Amino acid sequence: MSDHDIDPTSPRMAPKPEVTKIAGRELKPSTLMMGHGYDPVLSEGSLKPPIFLTSTFAFPSAADGKRHFEGITGKRPGGADGLVYSRFNAPNQEILEDRLSVWDGAEDALSFSSGMTAICVLMLAYASQNDVIVHSGPLYAASEGFVAKVLAKFGVTYVDFPAGATREEIDAVLEKAQTQADEQGGKVCMVYLESPGNPTNALVDIEAVRASVDAAQLDCPIAIDNTFLGPLWQRPLDQGADIVVYSLTKYVGGHSDLVAGSIAGAKKWMDPVRMLRNTMGGICDPNTAWMLMRSLETVELRMSRAGDNAAKVCDYLAKHPKVEGLGYLGMIKDARQQDIYDRHCKGAGSTFSLLLKGGEAECFRFLDALKIAKLAVSLGGTETLASHPASMTHLSVAEGRRAELGISDNLVRISIGIEDADDLIADFEQALEAV
Ligand SMILES: *Cc1c(COP(=O)(O)O)cnc(C)c1O
Repeated sequence: MSDHDIDPTSPRMAPKPEVTKIAGRELKPSTLMMGHGYDPVLSEGSLKPPIFLTSTFAFPSAADGKRHFEGITGKRPGGADGLVYSRFNAPNQEILEDRLSVWDGAEDALSFSSGMTAICVLMLAYASQNDVIVHSGPLYAASEGFVAKVLAKFGVTYVDFPAGATREEIDAVLEKAQTQADEQGGKVCMVYLESPGNPTNALVDIEAVRASVDAAQLDCPIAIDNTFLGPLWQRPLDQGADIVVYSLTKYVGGHSDLVAGSIAGAKKWMDPVRMLRNTMGGICDPNTAWMLMRSLETVELRMSRAGDNAAKVCDYLAKHPKVEGLGYLGMIKDARQQDIYDRHCKGAGSTFSLLLKGGEAECFRFLDALKIAKLAVSLGGTETLASHPASMTHLSVAEGRRAELGISDNLVRISIGIEDADDLIADFEQALEAV
């Protein structure tokens, strides 16, 4: 006991119900990020949540312990209503998950130690032997590899379709997947999307996918990797997706100083994944969860600034004589893609591809000459990053497939940060002079 102990019976110190509305007006996510899911009264008045470094939690009584385990093991639906053991959940992760749900308008969210852990556990939770996964292409290389190489070991096959496919094309793909599943003696277990595709920024028509899945009466979730535009510029649950997936390492973490992932959606879609995460582990650690909560307080500010910067930089680059083209969502040339953008996106993002006149040599000279932008893979951080996908992130992709996906030797991927826009333009100007 210490002088600092809080008397829980004092009315001043009683937990207060959380305010989510004022005068009938729902508070916005950027406001909720400062306190949602956390009451200082429960932690000695600490304004910020402490980091709970503990592996296990003391039960108030044996009966409580039993009840909590009924939730953990699924004997009672809806998960545990108390904390049990840190592989299952813990305070920092629970607050983080509550706050992540807010951005996507989701009922529930789960945090993971990386984006890839989130994706792998999600797919494993839904795929059974002989099932078929339908996915858009291109996917993040490790996601594509997990489907094609790891799930293949368990007899799970896939059918893919290009981002940008029309309703009719998606209908045909689902029909093919259903036939494939029937032949294998399995089912179509998931439709997995990534939009925009990396690095070309090709968008998937989520609304068309929803309509196709409903028309085919498939009883499987539509999941989508929203890392490039989320949570600010695209909310795929609004377009009919069931599960939204993030590498929090990118815009949400936003400072290139952590690795984490998440999924969010209705409880009924989260529950099987939560059960598998309980078994396998892979939950984000408390320190990373704490850092992500700090990041979420500024995610709207950072993404807005990065988006404004990208618009200014792309305006400059589009007019440069050494530039052949841009894969930037603020300058779409294709009517079908523009239509998807108008229906799905609230902003053009800050990650785009720059096509230089020339090939690898010209790209390398450009990259080596950059002074502010750092030469690194990843994206969505406060600092501007540039890389050469054909020789770096997509080196392992077969040349034919690379060409099919539009990942040419003259393509540089750029993720714009929150520096001063004119400084960035000056940097790109001097680097283009070196080409
Ligand atoms: C980075 C990334 C991932 C993987 O996330 P990690 O946090 O690195 O595991 C998945 N999808 C996309 C689109 C990404 O950019």
